[in-house]
Amino acid sequence: MIDEKGILFILSGPSGVGKGTVRKALFEQSTELRYSISMTTRDPREGEVDGIDYFFKSRAEFEKLINDRQLIEHAEYVGNYYGTPKQYVEQTLNEGNDVFLEIEVQGALKVRENFPQGVFIFLIPPSLEELKDRIVSRGTETEDKVRNRLLAAKEEIDMMDAYDYVVVNDQVDHAVDKIQSIVASEHCKRERV
Ligand code: 5GP
Repeated sequence: MIDEKGILFILSGPSGVGKGTVRKALFEQSTELRYSISMTTRDPREGEVDGIDYFFKSRAEFEKLINDRQLIEHAEYVGNYYGTPKQYVEQTLNEGNDVFLEIEVQGALKVRENFPQGVFIFLIPPSLEELKDRIVSRGTETEDKVRNRLLAAKEEIDMMDAYDYVVVNDQVDHAVDKIQSIVASEHCKRERV
């Protein structure tokens, strides 16, 4: 039986982990997922197209979207606003299609409040996993350098607990395969006759 409503998938993770690269590689493959194009106030980069990469907005336009409650979430990141359009996401889910968001961590936590049934995927670099292993196995590590690295990683590791899945971005194609497996498995979970 086909799911009545689509599933909302959220890909997030620490800054610089390669979320955008993984998302682009995922959508280059055949996928039923619908990508929700975000709104942003940042300037387009070379080659970026309005309505494909982002909906590029002025600050005033973006603030109006916030006030009119047209965003599921929004966050300020490096001096610019980023946000997820509510109407597209709700309509696409209601039509029975899966929606895929690729957003930073603060925004993902806000989505969690409004869409607890969403599937939250945390992308981490392989080195963070090594750090995590160190925290677990060498809790008494005193070396300054190591301690600083562990402290810096702690916040991100804490956030990991709020997610349903953790995907290590060791290689882009591996990360994409894992995300495809998660999508398939979430459909199996909801499958009923
Ligand atoms: P960039 O400027 O490099 O395209 O994106 C900067 C950051 O904003 C990335 O971490 C990206 O995942 C995040 N981002 C993109 N769209 C959204 C959105 O709609 N909401 C939030 N909260 N973050 C977003």
